[in-house]
Amino acid sequence: MQRSTKIVATLGPASSDRDTLERVIAAGVDVVRLNFSHGSAADHEARAALVREVAAAVGRTVGIMCDLQGPKIRVGRFDGNRVTLDAGAAFVLDAECTLGDVTRVGLDYPELPQDVKAGDVLLLDDGRIVLDVARVDGPRIHTIVRHGGELSNNKGINRQGGGLSAPALTAKDMEDIRTAARIEADFLAVSFPKSGADMYMARELQRAAGGKALLIAKVERAEAIGALDEILESADGIMVARGDLAVEVGDAAVPALQKKMIRLAREKNRLTITATQMMESMIGSPVPTRAEVSDVANAVLDGTDAVMLSAETAAGRYPVQTVEAMSRICIEAEKSADLALDRQFLDRVFTRVDQSIAMAALFTAVHLKVKCIAALTQSGSTALWISRLNCGVPIYALTPEPRSLARMSLYRDVTPFVIDYVTTDRDQLLREAEAKLKQHGLVADGDLIVVTIGEPIGKSGGTNTMKIVRVGT
Ligand code: PGA
Ligand code: MN
Repeated sequence: MQRSTKIVATLGPASSDRDTLERVIAAGVDVVRLNFSHGSAADHEARAALVREVAAAVGRTVGIMCDLQGPKIRVGRFDGNRVTLDAGAAFVLDAECTLGDVTRVGLDYPELPQDVKAGDVLLLDDGRIVLDVARVDGPRIHTIVRHGGELSNNKGINRQGGGLSAPALTAKDMEDIRTAARIEADFLAVSFPKSGADMYMARELQRAAGGKALLIAKVERAEAIGALDEILESADGIMVARGDLAVEVGDAAVPALQKKMIRLAREKNRLTITATQMMESMIGSPVPTRAEVSDVANAVLDGTDAVMLSAETAAGRYPVQTVEAMSRICIEAEKSADLALDRQFLDRVFTRVDQSIAMAALFTAVHLKVKCIAALTQSGSTALWISRLNCGVPIYALTPEPRSLARMSLYRDVTPFVIDYVTTDRDQLLREAEAKLKQHGLVADGDLIVVTIGEPIGKSGGTNTMKIVRVGT
């Protein structure tokens, strides 16, 4: 059964041994996320190598996304890795503390005490723990616990309403961008950008490091909502980062923002990932809640490219079952999605030859009710454009470029395949593409398909031909 929506799974202690990783990937993961908020560069490099090895063994295309920590302000580590905070107790965030306990913990952003004043509300671990600031004394923020609970190492801190001063890219991020380039990451997620300028900065740093990843802007600050247009212009995609976003703008505002962000991103030919707490209860339970099932299905109906798992696969008890359940929910939701080309399609304006061919292929595919669109593509752009309009026709993208192959792992409705451009003869190449799809059981003799290709063969951005083909004739 084919699935259009892609699954991003975060790796962590629960999913990094070879056996579990193999089962998680086989269950349907399209992109793995390496969370640079945890672990060393060496850990991430080893994990990336293992992912590539296992993906090849399982025979799946799996993209790698490196997610920068960004200026997320986090508590330090605890003696024993975790403590339980009780409501009403005093608790100190102390920039000078090295190993925390139930009375105090360190901070990875020593300037935080300068940004905070008495009366502020601090939310820890995506708002699970709430602290009222009583007073600030040099490097120490004295608080009273309003909502307590378990607090473990390196959990995030937000101020209600947003507006903390930390710059978007930290010294650690700059180092991590170099690590991501060494890993040859396919996607680089930038945390807490406030503006298009923050994304340009990340792009420049990546260029200097020799990285080629697509840039994903994590929309998770109040300021980013106002700057959505310029952030979309300067990024390749966005993540609806609901964890921090809900803390900054209030949880009730997030569902409508999710819909708006996905719609705008698709209009601008950008990618979208919907993230955080999608299957949260499956961290400890083998089945999702009804609300989680609805949440995943609604993200699919909103048109997201991918749904993301965080702690569910990084630290949960049921990483494999979680991916299986998510996959099943996506497939079912896709059946009920509205797949018609809307009238606005006819008003779309484009000046590029390759984009015109992509739209012509889409229009033809829908009206002729063809079996699939096969795009022979160098960069993957043709597949991206076709996939921005939810037409319900499977898109098979055939590329000789390993990098394009991995990037397309995130594109909704697109299944990428490698094809060797062993010839520059167009007709022979088309026959090979047809043979490839037949060999995978995706088309059969007699099926009508639409194929796009560029000439001269192998030139990026050169798609200039659409052909309607009856398979086997
Ligand atoms: P995080 O980002 O998991 O790195 O915090 C996602 C979010 O904030 O939702
Ligand atoms: Mn976040």
